[in-house]
Amino acid sequence: MSTHTLTTDSAEALENLYGSETFSIKTMKKYLSKTAFQKMKATIEKGGRLDPGIADEVAQAMMVWAISKGATHYTHWFQPLTDATAEKHDSFVEPDGKGGMICEFTGKSLIQGEPDASSFPSGGIRATFEARGYTAWDPTSPAFIKRTAHTATLCIPTAFCSYTGEALDKKTPLLRAMAAVSRQTTRVLNCFGIEPSVVDSNLGAEQEYFLVDRDLYLQRPDLIETGRTLFGCLPPKHQQMEDHYFGSIKERILEFMAAVDHELWALGVPAKTRHNEVAPGQFEIAPLFEPINVAVDHNVMIMDILQRQALKFNLVCLLHEKPYAGVNGSGKHNNWSLSTPELGSLLSPGKTPHSNLLFLTFLASVIQAIDRHADLLRASISKAGNDHRLGAQEAPPAIISIFLGDQLMDIIEQIKHGGARSSAGKTMMELGVDTLPVLPKDATDRNRTSPFAFTGNKFEFRAVGSSQTCAWPMAVLNTIVAETLDEVATALEPHAGAPDFEQQVMSLVTRMITSHDRILFNGNGYSEEWIAEAERRGLPNIKNTPEALAVLSRPDTVALFCKYGVLTESELLARKEVQEESYIKLIDIEAKTCLNMLQTIYAPAVAAQMTEICGTVASMQSAGIRAGLKAATDKAEKVGSLYDELLDRTAALSAAIENGCPMKEQECMLAARSTVDALEAIVDADLWPVPTYAQMLNIHSK
Ligand code: ADP
Ligand code: MG
Repeated sequence: MSTHTLTTDSAEALENLYGSETFSIKTMKKYLSKTAFQKMKATIEKGGRLDPGIADEVAQAMMVWAISKGATHYTHWFQPLTDATAEKHDSFVEPDGKGGMICEFTGKSLIQGEPDASSFPSGGIRATFEARGYTAWDPTSPAFIKRTAHTATLCIPTAFCSYTGEALDKKTPLLRAMAAVSRQTTRVLNCFGIEPSVVDSNLGAEQEYFLVDRDLYLQRPDLIETGRTLFGCLPPKHQQMEDHYFGSIKERILEFMAAVDHELWALGVPAKTRHNEVAPGQFEIAPLFEPINVAVDHNVMIMDILQRQALKFNLVCLLHEKPYAGVNGSGKHNNWSLSTPELGSLLSPGKTPHSNLLFLTFLASVIQAIDRHADLLRASISKAGNDHRLGAQEAPPAIISIFLGDQLMDIIEQIKHGGARSSAGKTMMELGVDTLPVLPKDATDRNRTSPFAFTGNKFEFRAVGSSQTCAWPMAVLNTIVAETLDEVATALEPHAGAPDFEQQVMSLVTRMITSHDRILFNGNGYSEEWIAEAERRGLPNIKNTPEALAVLSRPDTVALFCKYGVLTESELLARKEVQEESYIKLIDIEAKTCLNMLQTIYAPAVAAQMTEICGTVASMQSAGIRAGLKAATDKAEKVGSLYDELLDRTAALSAAIENGCPMKEQECMLAARSTVDALEAIVDADLWPVPTYAQMLNIHSK
């Protein structure tokens, strides 16, 4: 049950709702002494370590506030190396030694937890007998209340590491990579004579998802076990009429979306946009952008709330990248930028030639970083589910490229050919360095087919899968950009303040662009020609997860992560191992689910159809009826031969599972699926044992 009504009668009510379930800066101000408040605020806004001297006071205040919200327990909430979150609850209750109790929460319990974490994937970093793991409070992400109908729990966002201090989670490397890119950005800005108060890296994550009626979902073991349909024919009408995207939202769905928004607002998650997506049954929610670690925590909360709220409307939220074959998949567009409070986005073209030069420096740096590490970026989004999505309907290809739009591409061309001239307006003037063009703010059109697109003042990384947390892809992006910015700073520092500084910047920008322009592609990323063209350009086209993960153990990758203090070699290799293992396990679960459905659901249904037709044929024959006999016999032949094929393919799948080879398992699953789908097209609808795509994709108001 939601504790909030879904309408508000005043702006004040909405304001009071927003963040009411978080220990936000606003809440802290009420609950902390002035000194403690100032110190907390500084840590949150500027980073840096929290004064341990105020930990007890903060903990006490947090507890008093949480209890006033109905909480009895607290938990260190963290993100292990799965795509889920983890929590272990402790109550505030402490016996007072006289038969009563007191509520207690110390600074030590706030700052550090010690869960027995031996069952989390560690990729061999920690053996099971070394059960100890530590959670460490991330004060920059606000603590919040997780509520169910009758419980409330204080959740404290934390990082999770081993006894020996190695990262066992997704947040630690992200925080380290954010620090790395911030350090290097500051150095570059310093060269331009700018002293930023802080450099933020930001993320706005657009979350796509499907909804399916829960009653139908419960009849599909494939959805329950694997999150996607392993069988099913495309219905005659799905997304080809393009009438769902941005379409009018059905009442049942809107009620659900409103409940989600309200819960998110109470949690201080800036939910902004909601709409129908391309496929029927598919939707999107997008919050406003925030510093990446907060945005990642919020995105994980969004995924959780989408799933929990859906159940209240007798719906199930599918976060899988490809729940339905042949239909649009779900992604999570990661809108990314670097910014300072003073300048705003550093990827904003800006109004003056000087800021333009800065913009071109950051633009060229991103181009260089992506081109150099396209394979690493591809690895960061690899997951079995995403393999089905990339390069399929309405999804970016597995080839990483950058879309800049016509105007920026024009400027890039000019830079390559000996200096930038104006592209704004009709007058094409030859311009020297100090009179660089004033770039229009909306320098880009949209191109949905690109995996990495410049969109005005940010880049949009669209290849991230809908079920993944953004933590790892964002950690990788920040790290590779940090590396290039480090090189840029090192090249420019000797010239800072010198008369030839602008010339130096321009020649550096030109060098970076000239060496890395093969990554730029404005055309249709869905086309066959692009695949050939990308190959000609030498861009990697990595089709599946095992192939993609190979880059993680390459010496240059290890060196990169070590150099910027993001991951040690063993931490990086552990991540690779966890991803490889989970890939194999997932395919195995899919294969076993597939086999089980073939044997216990589809084969019996087909047998029933055969019995039914044969009964008809026999009665026709005994009654001497000839009309229709051929039709019935033909159908029996058709169904019968597919039935034989089904049994053969079932046997092949069973053998592949025995052998445990994921590639073979996938091949056999696809073969079995094609037989089942052919049967679905001819078997009597009332004998078909599971809900069809048409039924599942069209959600009816109830
Ligand atoms: P689209 O039209 O592609 O859906 P939106 O305007 O809805 O784009 O924005 C998508 C996301 O991009 C939102 O989360 C928004 O807050 C975020 N965003 C906007 N500006 C920036 C920026 N400078 N840095 C990072 N994210 C941004
Ligand atoms: Mg969008």
